[in-house]
Amino acid sequence: MIGHRSRLVVLAGPTAVGKGTVAAAVRAAHPEVWISVSATTRNPRPGEENGVHYWFVSDEEFDKMIAENDLLEWAVVHQRARYGTPRQPVELALASGHPAMLEIDLQGARQVRTTMPDALFVFLKPPSWDELVRRLVGRGTETAEERERRLVTAREELAAEPEFDVTIVNHEVHAAADELVTLMMQPPTDL
Ligand code: 5GP
Repeated sequence: MIGHRSRLVVLAGPTAVGKGTVAAAVRAAHPEVWISVSATTRNPRPGEENGVHYWFVSDEEFDKMIAENDLLEWAVVHQRARYGTPRQPVELALASGHPAMLEIDLQGARQVRTTMPDALFVFLKPPSWDELVRRLVGRGTETAEERERRLVTAREELAAEPEFDVTIVNHEVHAAADELVTLMMQPPTDL
């Protein structure tokens, strides 16, 4: 570790497991935790705000971010839109000693594993497959075709659990968020 740089935590897990909800619970209860805002080429859902939930960018803008090496990682998620982590805000948060977190998909987590191997990789897991399906259907934000595509991705993503340092089972959002923050606050040697 260099100076007072803080440690990066990467939260990944299958689609609809509740990563976004857990991240929002961390944001609400622990404002000291810095959470990255990703860039994406997908359209905003109702209620989503630019710069808060995502930076909603055009394909051309995303191309430019890649070309200028502005992204720490990026991936095409659900064979549909591109998502990426702006690099500089992460560097600044770590340099200022804030606990910092990325909430990204498995492909992105694998890239960060290569470029920032000292990060802590946390896998958020559903209590069961049936519960994951129930959450995906219950969210009601995707078409049937999109849900089917996401379930295929989710099966592959569940198999990646052994690649992670720690698993948290998302039985209940606040409990999962507390578990995550407790992990973030531990010195690396305790893990
Ligand atoms: P949604 O469209 O439902 O907001 O997110 C779809 C997926 O994209 C989620 O699995 C989420 O973790 C992932 N995602 C969000 N931001 C990023 C990012 O910056 N990089 C990568 N690789 N995946 C992301």
